[in-house]
Amino acid sequence: MGLGEFNLIERYFEHQAVRRDDVATPIGDDAAVVSVADGCELVVSVDTLIEGVHFPPQTSPQAIGHKALAVNLSDLAAMGAKPAWATLALTLPHSDEAWLEAFCRGFFQLADQYQVQLIGGDTCRGPLSLSVQIMGQVASGEALTRCGAAAGDLIYVSGQIGDAGLGLRLVQRQLQGVRDEDYFIQRLNCPAPRIEAGLALRGVASAAIDISDGLVADLGHILKKSAVGAVLDVEALPVAEQVKSLAGEPWWQWPLSAGDDYELCFTVPSARQPQAEALMAQVGCEISCIGVVEPLRGLRLRLADGQLIEATRQGYRHFV
Ligand SMILES: [Mg+2]
Repeated sequence: MGLGEFNLIERYFEHQAVRRDDVATPIGDDAAVVSVADGCELVVSVDTLIEGVHFPPQTSPQAIGHKALAVNLSDLAAMGAKPAWATLALTLPHSDEAWLEAFCRGFFQLADQYQVQLIGGDTCRGPLSLSVQIMGQVASGEALTRCGAAAGDLIYVSGQIGDAGLGLRLVQRQLQGVRDEDYFIQRLNCPAPRIEAGLALRGVASAAIDISDGLVADLGHILKKSAVGAVLDVEALPVAEQVKSLAGEPWWQWPLSAGDDYELCFTVPSARQPQAEALMAQVGCEISCIGVVEPLRGLRLRLADGQLIEATRQGYRHFV
């Protein structure tokens, strides 16, 4: 690399504004030393982004920096955890200082917003890829998981689904002349992790997951882990009019399977419905009630005419 690895780390990654007092030994030693707060558990997750696989090659370095951290924060949100520390493994084809500067702008802006301190990293030369490991804390026993959904629970999703899918088609130039083009591309490149919503749902939601692979696939994980099934009302899905009109027939197929939304899908016992809705309003998170958990396994969609369709990873078929 033009700039040696050590200079690179020092110049770009050791000067973050956020300084947490629970970091005893920060970035720059053989390993970092942190202390977990009393009565809390450590929540850890890692995600890798590879150019051409997880983001198109034309993605700006600032968006890559933001997204690499945002997708990890989204996993903490789904656990109801408060973000604390992160490590970054960055593989670059060559040392490009303009690229690094923009990447750091995206990464640290979001890190500072959530008081996340970068406590370690590694840089290598190779095809562009990045792995961020995120660490957060949650009061012992309070983490949200995928396995608590029970028959009768209501199913909610935050925000809108399908926006990032439309954004991807726009950056791939599969669609043109779309209104609010920038909004959809922003939803793809700069997802906003639902940290505040996840924190507020502790003790209220019975199960939660973030939507990275599409609602059908991700809700499917909750249903499988909780050993239950569900019915989703397609008319209740929060989908932008633009997505509906561009999706083709049937319109719901695309938003149900489009990934990269990083919204939360969660279940709530019906007795806690008013509490859940009030809490989400308090943190400014729009939510939609989209269905109900049932004892019968599998995921069924209720169409506008009342017809039930079974949704599987392979597709959709009439329910018998
Ligand atoms: Mg996840």
